Amino acid sequence: MVLPPYPRFKKAVRQLRKLPPLSEQGAVRSAIFLAMMGPKGVRSFTKSLLEIGDHLGTCPRCHNLSEVKELCWVCQEERPPVICVVEEIFDLLTVEEALPGRYRYHVLGGAISPMERIHPDQLTAHELPSRIEREGIEEVVIATGATTEGEATAQYLIELLQDLVPVRRMGRGVPIGGKVQQMDPLTIRYALQEK
Ligand SMILES: [Zn+2]
Repeated sequence: MVLPPYPRFKKAVRQLRKLPPLSEQGAVRSAIFLAMMGPKGVRSFTKSLLEIGDHLGTCPRCHNLSEVKELCWVCQEERPPVICVVEEIFDLLTVEEALPGRYRYHVLGGAISPMERIHPDQLTAHELPSRIEREGIEEVVIATGATTEGEATAQYLIELLQDLVPVRRMGRGVPIGGKVQQMDPLTIRYALQEK
């Protein structure tokens, strides 16, 4: 697509394109929007981005989004002793929308992928056995995607955890190749239904 020939504009598009869900068109729209905001608007927009960088990080317990060095809002709540394991923070938000308050979570930080050279030791899965023991967890629900990577990750988790705690895999109604974050709440509720 044709871009206006202004270096600052392109730089803004390049910056915004670093955000995962933004297409090229979306980034161009956003850069136009920012240019129309004027110096004051852009300054406050930028300030909010700086604040994200300064004040947000990941939860030391479950790797959800949290304020720096604090437990996340989920870990600060009283929740049933059931951990739902997801690949990404966005998946956590999707499951939480479908089943609010139902689970504690553990965010893996991705899925096992020999193609992309993502090995189990690069994920946070190794922290799960000690969490299960420390928190008296009674069940683990695996909500990785119905992708090759998600399946490999689920198999790995089952082998890692099955001697410690009952492990259940998210199942029914998940479209093959589907990512959890692309599923609607109804499908998620169905797929995570208790036996
Ligand atoms: Zn947490």
